[in-house]
Amino acid sequence: MSNIVLVIGEAQDGVLRNVTFEAIAAAKKIKSDGEVVGVLCGAQTLENQAQEMIYYGADRVVTVTDEKLENYTSDGYSQAITAVIEEESPAAIVMGHTAVGKDLTPKLAAKLDTGLVSDATDINEEDGEVVFIRPIYSGKAFEKKVITEGITFVTIRPNNIKALERDESRTGEVQAKDVDITDLRTIIKEVIRKKSEGVDLSEASVVIAGGRAVKSEEGFNSLYELADLLGAAVGASRGACDAGYCDYSLQIGQTGKVVTPDLYIAIGISGAIQHLAGMSNSKVIVAINKDPEANIFNIADYGIVGDMFEVVPKLVEELKSLKV
Ligand code: FAD
Repeated sequence: MSNIVLVIGEAQDGVLRNVTFEAIAAAKKIKSDGEVVGVLCGAQTLENQAQEMIYYGADRVVTVTDEKLENYTSDGYSQAITAVIEEESPAAIVMGHTAVGKDLTPKLAAKLDTGLVSDATDINEEDGEVVFIRPIYSGKAFEKKVITEGITFVTIRPNNIKALERDESRTGEVQAKDVDITDLRTIIKEVIRKKSEGVDLSEASVVIAGGRAVKSEEGFNSLYELADLLGAAVGASRGACDAGYCDYSLQIGQTGKVVTPDLYIAIGISGAIQHLAGMSNSKVIVAINKDPEANIFNIADYGIVGDMFEVVPKLVEELKSLKV
């Protein structure tokens, strides 16, 4: 049986996403004595990204470079990665449960005629078996999965499995692989980026989320100010998005993003079950709400009962004075 665990790397603007390093740590949990092989796709040189994967624990990295891989398409990337999988015959494959991971991995699993454990939050060994833990019913329960046959294929939720320490003394081979990417059925003509939202929401270690109580687009400015001071990302409830106070890309919850930061500050959010589905696994939850009966306080570790328009400026002021 193969000893290889393949880790599919993912970059944004040429920089590897942190979940790639977490996937390497996950690969080592799946097969502690295995060879961790990274795979990277792109149009430009991938040497620096490959080195980073090695510093974070990959033993070897295979790169596929082709101008058709400049932007992600499931068509192009699945062709490139399938070719690597066919050559390497890995025992397991790991990728981040990101927008790209969610799009690409089911397609690869179908091509390989294998199963997929998606959105794992932990990996343990029990009685000699590798057990994957994943949330179900919008995070209200967890299930354990064991793969009994075929390739062990898994996506991991960002911010749950700790990456290994970066170690620049680590060395490994970087191998360029030629893959003949046939004509793509989807061609990306232009990528129009939204104005930078600062820290990436799904990988942020601190998230400041605003609800309908924020009342306006301008109201979110104080949340951005607080986020800047804490190095945090800003998110929102669907109530705030529906009201047009912020973009839907900030929505957290059952039909939005799922986040697991170290610190989640919910400001003027009632705590509807659909919102909790996206944030209840955060490590520390702080809620600011003027209603002491608000459901959000049932899951909060710390609660501030008060008017956000008084509490948030005070927090900003206090944090600024600490930074001086
Ligand atoms: P509200 O419920 O209106 O709560 C506002 C809160 O602010 C209240 O608790 C109030 O006490 C407090 N408040 C008011 N003024 C102040 C003040 N000045 N200072 C402090 N606190 C104040 N919701 C999501 O968030 N994410 C999802 O992904 C999502 N998916 C959904 C999917 C489906 C199928 C459905 C049916 C619903 C979904 N929802 C989702 C909507 C969800 O049910 C709630 O309607 C929504 O989360 C409410 O947003 P909110 O908490 O901001 O607003």
